[in-house]
Amino acid sequence: MPPQPSPARFARHPWWLGGLWLLTTALLLGLQIWQERLNTQRQQTELTQTVQSQMLEKIAQHKAHLTALTALAPLAHESTALQRVAHSIATIYPRIEAIDLVTASQPATGSCQLPAAEQLASTLKPGESASLPDRLHGGRYLLIKKIANPAGWLCVRIDSEHLLDAGSLPPQVLLGISLHEQPLLKPDAAGGSEAFGQFTLDGYGQPLQVQLLSHPRPWFNARMLWTSALLSLLLVGLGALLWRSRQQSRAHQQQAQLLANEARLAHAARINSLGEMASGIAHELAQPVTALLSQSQAALRAQELSKPALLTAALQANVREARRAGDILGRMRSYISNAPSQVQTLDLRQLVEQALLLLEGPAKQAGVKLQWIPPAQPCMALADPVALEQVLHNLVRNALDALQQSATANPVITITLAQEDQQLLLYVQDNGPGLDSATAQRAFEPFFTTKAEGMGLGLPLCATLMERMGGKLEHRPSAQGACFAMQLPRAAAETSATGAAHVEP
Ligand code: ADP
Repeated sequence: MPPQPSPARFARHPWWLGGLWLLTTALLLGLQIWQERLNTQRQQTELTQTVQSQMLEKIAQHKAHLTALTALAPLAHESTALQRVAHSIATIYPRIEAIDLVTASQPATGSCQLPAAEQLASTLKPGESASLPDRLHGGRYLLIKKIANPAGWLCVRIDSEHLLDAGSLPPQVLLGISLHEQPLLKPDAAGGSEAFGQFTLDGYGQPLQVQLLSHPRPWFNARMLWTSALLSLLLVGLGALLWRSRQQSRAHQQQAQLLANEARLAHAARINSLGEMASGIAHELAQPVTALLSQSQAALRAQELSKPALLTAALQANVREARRAGDILGRMRSYISNAPSQVQTLDLRQLVEQALLLLEGPAKQAGVKLQWIPPAQPCMALADPVALEQVLHNLVRNALDALQQSATANPVITITLAQEDQQLLLYVQDNGPGLDSATAQRAFEPFFTTKAEGMGLGLPLCATLMERMGGKLEHRPSAQGACFAMQLPRAAAETSATGAAHVEP
C-alpha cells in the first residue's frame, strides 16, 4: 500500500502554530516600536530646529528694535518719536513689555531700576548690549544696550514665554529657558519628562539656554498590539497553508512515483518468473497434448473400422483438449501481459447481476445456493467491466469447486458489497472448508493448486487483473469457509449512497 500524504505537522500540533503566531506577533510589535521610536526621534529633531530658528528670529528682532531705538534716542528730549516707536513696538510685539531709556536726567523705572541692571549697564561700552534675568517679574529678562547719545542705556523687558509662536509646541512637549544659568521658564518635569533638545542662542546679546522636554510615552499601545497580532495571524495562516499544500503535493508526487515503481516491479517480477512458468506451461500442456495424441489415434482407428460414433466422440474429446490447451495459453498471456485496463465508471450492482446470470446454471447443477444482497443505492466504482466479471467468475467457480469437493451441507455462496472510505469492497464468501494457512499463504502463487484438475493460475491472474484496474484482491480470514475481497476505487461523482449496503463478511 503506497503511503498516504501525511497531514502537515502544523495541523497535527496546533500549538506549533500558536507558538509561531506569538513569535511573529512579538517580532512585528518590536518592529513597530522601533519604527515608532525612529519617527519620534525624527519629529523631535525637526521640532528642535523649528524652535531654534523661531527663537533666533525673535531675539534678532529685539536687537533690531534696540538699534532703531538707539537711532531715535538723541531726539528723546525734544520729540516724542522715541516714545511712539517704543509704544508701537510694545503693541505689535506683546512679549516686549517695557522699554526704558535711562539717562542722567531720566532715571530708570520698573525692573530697569534693579541694581543688577544698573551695574550691568555700567560695565558696557556704548553700542554693546547684554541681558540679565528680571528678578521682579518671573519668566522675563532685561535686554540692555549702552548708548552714547545721550549717555545712558536702553532697557527692554521681554517675556520669554512668548519667544515662540502660539501652538508651535505639541501638547506633550515642555519648554525650559534659562539665562546665565538662572531659570526663566521652568518646565514641569514631575512626570519624569525626558530632555530631547538643548541649545544656546548665540549672538544678539541674549544667550538664552533652551531645553525641550517630552512627557514619557508608553513603549507600545493597543493599536500596535492589535495590528501585530492580526498581521502575524495572517502571515502564519498563509505560511501554514503554503507549507501544507507543498507537503501534500510532495507526498502525492512520491505516491505517484511509488505506484509507478510498483507497477514496473510487478511487471519485471512477472517477466522474471517466465522461466519458472515455462516449465509450468510445459507441465500443464503435456496433459492435453497427450490426450490430443491418444484421441487422434483413436479417431484414426475408428475411421479405419468405419465406426462414426466412436470417431465423433474422439473428435469431440480432441476439441475439448485443444480448448483446454488454448485456455492455458490464453491465461498465461493475460498474466504476463502489461496491457492497461479499460477502466470506466460503472454500477457494481449491475455488473454482479450480469456475472451471476452465467453462474446460476453451474451453481444449480452443483446444488449450491447463490446469495446476492444488492444495496438499494447505485455503487459507482472505477473498474474494467470485462476483467472484473472474469475475476468474479473465477472466485465463484473456485467456491463452487470447494463446496462440491467438500460436500458441505446447505452449501451457499454469498456476495455482498460494502464501502470503506473511498473504496468499494465486493466480497465472495462461501461456507465450504476454506483455505488452511499453508494454502492461504501460497494461493496467489502461479501454478499453485490443490485440485487434481487445477491449473493454479486463477487467483494470480485475478490479482493481476485487479491491480491493473487500480484495485486489489485479498483473501480475508473468515470464521467459516473462504472469503475473498475485491477492493475497487469509488467513482468521484459517487456519494455515500452505498452506506446502507455495508455487510461485514
Ligand atoms: P485452481 O483453481 O486452478 O487451483 P486458483 O489459483 O484459482 O487455481 O486457486 C488456487 C488454490 O486456492 C486452489 O487450488 C484452492 O486450494 C485454493 N482455493 C481457491 N479458492 C478457494 C475456496 N473458495 N475455498 C477453498 N480453497 C480455495
